[in-house]
Amino acid sequence: MGRIDIYTILVLTAINLATVSIALPLIMGRDISHAARMAQGSLIFQTLGWVFIIASDQWNGHWLDPVLSTCSMASASLANYLMFLALQDWLGARPLRRTLLLLTVLMPVGYALSFSNYPVRVGFANFVFAAQLLVVARAALWPDRSKRGATLPWRALITLCYSAVALVTVGRGILGGFYPELYPNFQASHPVNVVAQLTANVALVLTAVAVLVAWREEADARLREQAYTDGLTGLLNRHGWNERAPILFDQARRHRTALALIMLDLDHFKRINDTRGHEVGDQVLRLFSDVLLYHRRSGDLAARVGGEEFALLLPYTDRVGAIQIEQRLRVSLHDACELHPSLNVDYSSGLAMLNANDASLTAFMVRADTALYRAKHEGRGRLVVVG
Ligand code: GH3
Ligand code: MG
Ligand code: MG
Repeated sequence: MGRIDIYTILVLTAINLATVSIALPLIMGRDISHAARMAQGSLIFQTLGWVFIIASDQWNGHWLDPVLSTCSMASASLANYLMFLALQDWLGARPLRRTLLLLTVLMPVGYALSFSNYPVRVGFANFVFAAQLLVVARAALWPDRSKRGATLPWRALITLCYSAVALVTVGRGILGGFYPELYPNFQASHPVNVVAQLTANVALVLTAVAVLVAWREEADARLREQAYTDGLTGLLNRHGWNERAPILFDQARRHRTALALIMLDLDHFKRINDTRGHEVGDQVLRLFSDVLLYHRRSGDLAARVGGEEFALLLPYTDRVGAIQIEQRLRVSLHDACELHPSLNVDYSSGLAMLNANDASLTAFMVRADTALYRAKHEGRGRLVVVG
């Protein structure tokens, strides 16, 4: 261990990080999410952190030493905060964001103010830095709140890396704060320093791998989302409906909870196309979809299942509730058409409530469709309820 030159590993860490910081944007390209950008920024500031440390060593005793060292602490702190923001974008809200922001500011400020007192400075900086790392480690494992469903391995990898670096940072803090004679400076070839530096090196490689996996997963989810979404209206398309609706159907059957299905079809839509043009027809479809989206509660499924045919699946909704929602929809559409008279349209709908005889989603949809056709035959512009 004694033969390992800490300065060499320090420089290698900086070179590795710089390489990764340049390679990642090149691999990931320009069209990336905010999360991916934050993760890239995190690695760039980590690199800067190490570069400032190396630079400060060249100016030992000079007034530039405290300036460069403080810049290093600020960069490293900011790197942690950016990684946290990336995780938040990928996984949904994470706990302790404000605390981390406070620690991000506190660390370099406290470090600069206590610069002349070695044990206080080193102890303080390392303990606060370790706390930051643990907040990030926890954020990665905190339950996923994204709709995409992030996988566990890359998150566990980030937690592992940040926890390991936190552990060796605490070691540095204890040595620097309480046994300064054993630990004259950051670059001393003390075993704790060597282990810390090697750990940082391995952690940065694994963190870069985790970031790449997270980014790929995000891109996959975006593609899937696009495949499920109707380009004209933003509603689920038929494919998305076939993917998601059976899940709600099976849940409702298994737990014997209420499930309502409303099929909706625009009235005389062909006439709109024929008399006012296809472009106006498209605008009418968008207007109707906006009304549907507006009234959809979280957990409901709204889809464009055909040209001018739509489906609304309402979990935990009984007949009275479903009829109320349908009425609100009709009033909203009516109001919207008053605002845009050129897009005037009405619709017919059929409501079916899930019952024990609905062996499949298809059977359930056939019943709602039958109700819809009755609504058409009875004069359109109305709701017919079955089951
Ligand atoms: P009904 O009241 O009986 O439902 O009559 P309808 O005219 O609404 O029904 P029909 O099924 O005869 O016509 C549906 C029309 O919807 C035919 C098709 O050209 C049109 N359509 C389907 N998709 C689109 C689209 O994306 N944009 C536009 N503008 N029209 C579409
Ligand atoms: Mg129609
Ligand atoms: Mg139709």
